[in-house]
Amino acid sequence: MTKGATMLSKVQGSRRPWFLPEGRRLPDEVWAQRHRGLTFLLWLHVPALFGFALFRGYDVATALEQISLIAVPAAVALVDKLGRNARSSATSIGLVIGASVLVHISGGSIEAHFQFFVILAFLTLYQAWLPFLLALLYVVGEHGIVGAIDPRAVYNNPADIAQPWKWAAIHGGFVLAASFANVLSWRLTEQEALHDGLTGLPNRASLLDALEKMPPSRPHRTSAVLFIDLDNFKDANDAFGHDVGDALLIALAHRLQRHLRTGDLLARLGGDEFAIVVNDISGVDEAKAVAERLLSALEEPVCVGDVTLGACASMGIALADESTSGADLLRNADLAMYEAKRDGGARVATYRPTLHSAAVRRTELEAELRVALAEEQFVLHYQPIVDLATHRIVGTEALIRWQHPTQGLLAPAEFITAAEQSGLIVPLGAWVIRTACKQTATWQKSEPDAAPITVAVNLSPRQLLDRTLVATVAEALHDTDLDPSSLCLEITEGSVIKDFDATMPTLHALRTLGVSLALDDFGTGYSSLSYLKQLPVTSVKIDRSFVGDLEANANNGQIVLAIIELAHALGMSVTAEGAETVQQLAALKAMRSDMAQGYLLGRPMPPTDLRATIMEPEAGPLSDCLFELPIQAAGRHDAAVTTNEQD
Ligand code: C2E
Ligand code: MG
Ligand code: MG
Repeated sequence: MTKGATMLSKVQGSRRPWFLPEGRRLPDEVWAQRHRGLTFLLWLHVPALFGFALFRGYDVATALEQISLIAVPAAVALVDKLGRNARSSATSIGLVIGASVLVHISGGSIEAHFQFFVILAFLTLYQAWLPFLLALLYVVGEHGIVGAIDPRAVYNNPADIAQPWKWAAIHGGFVLAASFANVLSWRLTEQEALHDGLTGLPNRASLLDALEKMPPSRPHRTSAVLFIDLDNFKDANDAFGHDVGDALLIALAHRLQRHLRTGDLLARLGGDEFAIVVNDISGVDEAKAVAERLLSALEEPVCVGDVTLGACASMGIALADESTSGADLLRNADLAMYEAKRDGGARVATYRPTLHSAAVRRTELEAELRVALAEEQFVLHYQPIVDLATHRIVGTEALIRWQHPTQGLLAPAEFITAAEQSGLIVPLGAWVIRTACKQTATWQKSEPDAAPITVAVNLSPRQLLDRTLVATVAEALHDTDLDPSSLCLEITEGSVIKDFDATMPTLHALRTLGVSLALDDFGTGYSSLSYLKQLPVTSVKIDRSFVGDLEANANNGQIVLAIIELAHALGMSVTAEGAETVQQLAALKAMRSDMAQGYLLGRPMPPTDLRATIMEPEAGPLSDCLFELPIQAAGRHDAAVTTNEQD
């Protein structure tokens, strides 16, 4: 048996003749709730029919005999150990007998027969065909078989007594028609709930159902789930409106459908997510080939009205295997899709068990981060920023560390991404802003005569999109009594460009507060001149990858020089990051970088250590590395010196 075929062992649902509807199996809790309701209704029949029998003049013994016909199935329906079918059959047959007893007690009145149809409507709640079958068999059996053996027990009229099977057929016909109407309405409502309103495709519930009931694979064949997420759908939606977004989704759904083989199933999971069950494939290579083909199909331009759009998608593949349920298979494909997205999108990735363990680790990390935030396990270290003209520390960069209870001091690389993904970066970032402002205000107060030291705080993309950011910054400045000009917020180009329209007003509002803005890691991102011109930033931080290679790579020197000159031309100051050697520092100074930061000048350190460095810079490591460099008296921008000249 192939792996895919083994999934069959998970097939749920009842065995049924081909012509009967199967229906979705109700979840256990839903079924139990409905069964309780219907069984309660059945038990209500006991006193009601007993009272009605006495009212109609029956003696107590006969009345008891009549209601015992209901009480027995009603008791069976309460036995939890019995399966769903046995218990629903007991309740159904009890309710049908109840209707029959009512007819009997009422002397066969036509009106009492209506109760059958009320009961049939109630039985629809079981969403199974068996109750209807039982009702049909009961009615036909009672009118036909009992009617033939003991006609007076069933019929009053001599004409009817002679033709029990004719009346059995008539009553049965009505019950069959009413059952059909009820089953039809249940099935149509169910179909509605199993399909996506926009594209008409099966939805997530329907897909999961199909996965659970996957047909057996042929030998050496298997099945796979492809999880598809459009990469740029949000942009199209935002740029052209939801109508165009909807039309795009419909067009792409049709396109995917056209490229599938019969037997494959396409579903829309919601938003811009689709999934495909690809059946009867030889293995992962064939699944990849299918995915690549679909990816190319999606990438062809789509015309929506007079707009032409290009779509691209990230796809994850998970192959069916013996131990994986349908829901887990979909989750695995989803994890693989996220991997494709992390790798830049517009690609296909295949599920590996490590993806799951990494996801579990991320979830655990998020939970740990929540605790860490509540228990204040974070600390800030401060790295000095030195003015290359005066050789004095003019500021610091606040860098977060996690004092983990078991793993020691963790660097931001270990947790910032998880904090960002979980949204925890917003409260965490607010804590960083408050703490850095408080520390800097304390330093400034302890040195009232010195030029006020500044602090730089890193902002993550998520924080920039947070509406409360400006208020958080204003509040931190107000509460700590720090002058806004002493706070610099570091942003990266990527975080602005990702959502330019949303972040620009925030950046301007921050500038209005009086804080300065620095473009961090400059040179590694888009480094787009048109963006740089538009951003209200006051300084640029050259990424340490350029500084680190200054000596080895002459081109890097040219790049650093170009960045410095460009920034100066735009009226911005420049801080070079990652200065580790005296030579690098000399080159940076020669190229007229305004400030430098790096291990040479001081590593990120706890506030108490940094205080000593600020108070007595001549005694600290700064003096050793800077004493060789001339202090610039005035006019920073006088001599153009390249690194080559330095060499
Ligand atoms: P960044 O803002 O570019 O910070 C500079 C990083 O370079 C720091 O790493 C610092 O320790 C390191 N560094 C400084 N000088 C040198 C050097 O001479 N050589 C080398 N090899 N490295 C040097 P760290 O502290 O691990 O921080 C890494 C990144 O984490 C930061 O890069 C920043 O993007 C992020 N980060 C740190 N703290 C925060 C925070 O509070 N909030 C947010 N959102 N991100 C933060
Ligand atoms: Mg930074
Ligand atoms: Mg940086």
